[in-house]
This record gives sequence, structure tokens and C-alpha cells, in this order.
Amino acid sequence: MRSSHQRDAILEYLKSMRAHRSATEIYDAVREKIPNISLGTVYRNLGQLVEAGQIITVETHDKFVYYDGYIKPHTHFVCKACKMIFDFEYETTQPEPITSQGFKIENERTVYYGLCKKCIGDTPV
Ligand SMILES: [Zn+2]
Ligand SMILES: [Zn+2]
Repeated sequence: MRSSHQRDAILEYLKSMRAHRSATEIYDAVREKIPNISLGTVYRNLGQLVEAGQIITVETHDKFVYYDGYIKPHTHFVCKACKMIFDFEYETTQPEPITSQGFKIENERTVYYGLCKKCIGDTPV
């Protein structure tokens, strides 16, 4: 992959925090550094970064895609009330876990839905 100033800025932004951002949020943030970048360029570079394994995507059940600069294996929990996305850490004993049925797992795309701790407290029963 040819190095690019724009892609570096996008990657740097995503690696600078532990958060999940939509393409438009990334576009707004990167535009502060590179005012002439277009949304199309942001999408194209995000696609290249995903393909290169440098970032991952989180797709929520309402089909929104978020980008994550944290690429250690982890799963996601989406709160249906506040829409926050939380990281779930889990331990893998082998680099490529094999299930009891013999499937070799290469990556984890599970997204859990529900209410986060804060929203459980806020929701009247
Ligand atoms: Zn919540
Ligand atoms: Zn994450």
C-alpha cells in the first residue's frame, strides 16, 4: 500500500483514542488537519485501511458502520438506548481458535445489543 498523507491522518486519528467513529465523524475530524479532503477520499482510505487489517469495522443492527483503530480481538456491545459502543475483551488461548466442530475462527464479528449500566439505571420499569 502506497503511503498517503491523508490515510496517515485518518489512521492516526483512529489510533489516538479508544472509540468507534462513523465515516462522517472521521471526515469532520480529519478536515481540521486537511481542509480540502473529500468525504469520498475518507471512505476510500477507510476501505484500504480495513483491507490492510489496520482498522476494523463494527456494523450495528441498524446498518451503521463504525471504524475502530483497536485491532486486538474483541467483541462489541451496543447500547440500544444511548447508542454507545463498548469494547468487550476476551482471552484467546490460541492465535487461531478451533471450535469443537472443527471451524477455524479467523476473526470475530459478534455485536451484542442491550442496555449499558448507565441506561439500565435510567430506564423506568
Ligand atoms: Zn446506554
Ligand atoms: Zn472496538
